[in-house]
Amino acid sequence: MDPLSRRRFLKISGATFGLAASGAGLAAVARAVNDPAAGGVTGLRKIATFCDICFWKCGAVAHVQDGRLWKVEGNPEDPLSRGRLCPRGTGGVGAHFDPDRLRAPLIRRRKRGEDAWTVVTWDEALGYVAERMLKIKAQHGPEAVALFSHGIGGTFLKHTLRAYGTPNLAAPSFAQCRGPRDVGFHLTFGEEVGSPERTDIRNARCLVLVGSHLGENMHNTQVQEFADAVGNGASVIVVDPRFSVAAGKAKHYLPIRPGADLALLLAWMHVLVVEKLYDQEYVAQHGFGFDAFAAEVAACTPEWAYPETGIQPQVIRETAREMARYRPATLVHPGRHATWYGDDAQRSRAIALLNALLGSWGRKGGFYAPVSMDVPGYPYPPYPAPAKAKVDNPNGKYPFATETVTTGIREATITGQPYPVKGWFVYATNLMHALPNEAETIEAIQRLDLMVVVDVIPTEISGWADVVLPESVYLERYDELNVEVFREPFVALRQPVVEPPEGFDTKPNWWMARELALRLGLGAYYPWKHIEEYLDTRLKGAGLSLEALKKTGIVRGAPQPVYFEDGVAPEFPTPSGKVEFYSPQLREKGFDPVPKYTPPVQGPPGTFRLLYGRSPVHSFSRTQSNPLLHEMMAENAVWVNGDVARRYGLKTGDRVRLRNQDGVVSDRVQVLATERIRPDCVYIVHGFGHTAARLRRALGKGASDAQLITRYRTDPLMGGTGMNVNFVSLEVGV
Ligand code: SF4
Repeated sequence: MDPLSRRRFLKISGATFGLAASGAGLAAVARAVNDPAAGGVTGLRKIATFCDICFWKCGAVAHVQDGRLWKVEGNPEDPLSRGRLCPRGTGGVGAHFDPDRLRAPLIRRRKRGEDAWTVVTWDEALGYVAERMLKIKAQHGPEAVALFSHGIGGTFLKHTLRAYGTPNLAAPSFAQCRGPRDVGFHLTFGEEVGSPERTDIRNARCLVLVGSHLGENMHNTQVQEFADAVGNGASVIVVDPRFSVAAGKAKHYLPIRPGADLALLLAWMHVLVVEKLYDQEYVAQHGFGFDAFAAEVAACTPEWAYPETGIQPQVIRETAREMARYRPATLVHPGRHATWYGDDAQRSRAIALLNALLGSWGRKGGFYAPVSMDVPGYPYPPYPAPAKAKVDNPNGKYPFATETVTTGIREATITGQPYPVKGWFVYATNLMHALPNEAETIEAIQRLDLMVVVDVIPTEISGWADVVLPESVYLERYDELNVEVFREPFVALRQPVVEPPEGFDTKPNWWMARELALRLGLGAYYPWKHIEEYLDTRLKGAGLSLEALKKTGIVRGAPQPVYFEDGVAPEFPTPSGKVEFYSPQLREKGFDPVPKYTPPVQGPPGTFRLLYGRSPVHSFSRTQSNPLLHEMMAENAVWVNGDVARRYGLKTGDRVRLRNQDGVVSDRVQVLATERIRPDCVYIVHGFGHTAARLRRALGKGASDAQLITRYRTDPLMGGTGMNVNFVSLEVGV
């Protein structure tokens, strides 16, 4: 399944340069940025780039005074940031100045995990890695090396590893995050939601958030659009066991029993069908298998859903009618981190089907049809064809996986089946916090002949590496172009705005990937010597130039139609060519062609389901040591229902430990006693409770959800790991 199969490329021509052709646009850019080549290093320079504190890639302008980084703010011409960064992006300055940053290449001195290192030169480090990679290739084949990466910075390492000959390139963003959602939507509409999501939040008249924490989950564009929608009077419906920030904006807040979301979605669809409130014209024109679908949801009455969800039948009916009132400008948000209970692709498919009933796919206020600029790739030689299929998904065990399954690679590394995996590259992802069940990750690492971590900070995973390669932070380096697939076409540049601090022997990822390739005898895949040549070649292929893009950071194309009602031809690249209310693909593989609800597994008496989420000032487990972001939030707290807290004699600010069902005990963590969470669950922000000794500021602050997530349920459709299946008890006075 190709997620970009319907991407509508914008061919660049004189007429398409919305910004370049606009005098007003150029004036705005001139105010915002200077030419980075002008003025040497003295005075104030404002240089355009894009943010990397998370993967959203917001356009930014760095202010550099006399060569010293001063502040970073939004680029007003960037459609993602719209001139405003989120709090984390503003804190990008702290990433540059972080004294705990990795400073020089390291080779392990003692046992894996002991965090004892020898500082080496780049030549020694890369020579060591290349020698072991060549040995693995000779003994086991190139497929025995795998890459785990996150974000646009992994582009060049992926290129080197593809040239080396391995197909085993994975990112936790699939099996530990958005994968079930992408698969559920693909099965229904033939296309994925994408990233950034193709959600037209700003034009939604009714916005439904099912366990989606906009405002805490700080995807900048979406949060700004959410504020616009609320300001425009949109009706907001929030479904969450916890009264989130978004719930505070809601007309209807539904405090659902954890794990019963699919029952609610089926009951909503039942109401829309039985009361004939769905978009009958849209369904008749574009739907496939509607009658079979309607027969399946016939039994899913609000009364049936009530004991499962805890949501009163009249509330289910009222909210379904509210959605129908505003359709097609009703957006049931697909969410992002969707790996909850192991039936997540089917739950996501139910969200897709609900949107289909409301006719919101392809419509204003629903899901737009994204566009992109046509910037050709670099003309590299073809990669060698791997002799073996990917290791993560033997015999199509997960028949609908559209990307590599990280935990499938981990399993193969442990078992040696279907073939051995002997080398891991880990780029910019802290696998100890990203993957469930830390013990399995450690067991896999112990079976490796080579473990390489490339990162900017010494996270837990780097402690398990044989070689640590310190990367320059995003403000000090070029990266791949951002040719975004979005509501309007644009291309953006990340460029260095400052040098790494004095005494830091760090390098950009493109340099490391290229140097490694040269040592592996893969020089033919790097005909360019400096990334500027690479970027300029790509840009010239699109009629642009690096010199011009360095000045503005961004080139925007003219707006294009993005809704069916504005002339975009409805296309649904499913096998039937229609919206698949009933899925023959699923039936053929032995799965429910229409989603069915199964009650979630419950925990032992006296335990609470462990839920986790995001903070608006931190990204995953990657920013807790950033001095500026640490100052905003130094540790997490465990949310405990007020009645439960009283029963345990706890008040806000007291400290407890969390013990999970397998006996894992967290660090001491503050209690937040609140009525804003149901009594059957507790909640913590992800990414805290660091154990890496060299993250001095973050060490031992708060509790780690990752350590407590020892259990997971694998989604049989696509291999995602449902992680909301762990239960904890509260240990008081310890
Ligand atoms: S959402 Fe925030 S952290 Fe992420 S890229 Fe945008 S400004 Fe940076």
